[in-house]
Amino acid sequence: MNVSDDLISWYMDHKRSLPWRETRDPYRIWLSEIILQQTRVEQGMMYYLRFVNTYPNIGFLARAKEEDVMKNWQGLGYYSRARNLFATAKYIYHDLGGEFPRSYDNLLKLKGVGPYTAAAIASFAYKLPHAVVDGNVARVLSRLFDLELPINSAEGKKLLDSLAAELLHPEHPDLHNQAIMELGALVCTPQSPGCGKCPVRMHCMAQQRGTVTMRPQKVKKSKAKAWSIHYMVLESEEGVIFRFRKKGGVWKGLFDFISLEDVSEPSAEMMLETVKGVLPQVEIKSAPRQVYATRHLLTHRKIEAEFWHISVTSVNGGALSGDCRFVPFEDIKALPVSRLVHKYLEKTPWLE
Ligand code: SF4
Repeated sequence: MNVSDDLISWYMDHKRSLPWRETRDPYRIWLSEIILQQTRVEQGMMYYLRFVNTYPNIGFLARAKEEDVMKNWQGLGYYSRARNLFATAKYIYHDLGGEFPRSYDNLLKLKGVGPYTAAAIASFAYKLPHAVVDGNVARVLSRLFDLELPINSAEGKKLLDSLAAELLHPEHPDLHNQAIMELGALVCTPQSPGCGKCPVRMHCMAQQRGTVTMRPQKVKKSKAKAWSIHYMVLESEEGVIFRFRKKGGVWKGLFDFISLEDVSEPSAEMMLETVKGVLPQVEIKSAPRQVYATRHLLTHRKIEAEFWHISVTSVNGGALSGDCRFVPFEDIKALPVSRLVHKYLEKTPWLE
């Protein structure tokens, strides 16, 4: 038996039953793969079921309202994934006649689909011989072959790709890929891997050489950059003024508030001037009052956020400038917002 046979026979006995493993539908497999990027399986499951129930095929998703898609995604973070998901659904539905691409190269052309996702769809949906390399697979390979090269360096990635392709089972690329990922998730875990019950320990060089705890090697990433945000929450008697993030950045397509960014300790005057600059038609009734402060981590950013409450006169019905929108209290819970803004909204009575 070779490594792949051992992996597959272990997988058939030990695999977790997950809904996206019960289908060959490329739409559902793609959906699950996009949702599961940077997301734990338990959390991803809820979102996967929500998406397949709300949008059972590509047509439903392509014809949805972007705001609803973002709302259904809310809480998963990395919102560019949701924007790409929606753009890709529209592209496949309108430009490809609703037919999912059937080759690795054409899958790779889809927005938001990189080499890992293209290989996953190609092998799981069509049984094409493309090896997946995600974090779990990289860890397993680095231990199996006792690799000294850092797995996140360019050379390391190249080596992993070629080792993964070499190892791939020619007749069962789908099962092989699932099996090696499952081994990384359940047995060959980052801390204290279960080598004693590992189906490939006889082939594992790190296990034989006693270097398991030293693998994988990684190049240290630069530290997350600090980002300070002062949000100004304008509240009237009927509702709150939100801002729509139209331009790029992590929160594009979501609602937040007028803000001052990367200004340390702005004065009340500076905040009021900012509000006036964006919304000259709004009449301010009170000085800014800090109502919430929190720290929030994104992949490359360490955010210090403060929320400042400012009372304004009624603006309901009037057109607002600067991508701002007046939202009645009862409609606030339906708005797509970032996890950071949601943390603040949970402190208010508006989500009840
Ligand atoms: S023997 Fe241990 S280190 Fe090697 S692949 Fe199995 S779990 Fe990972």
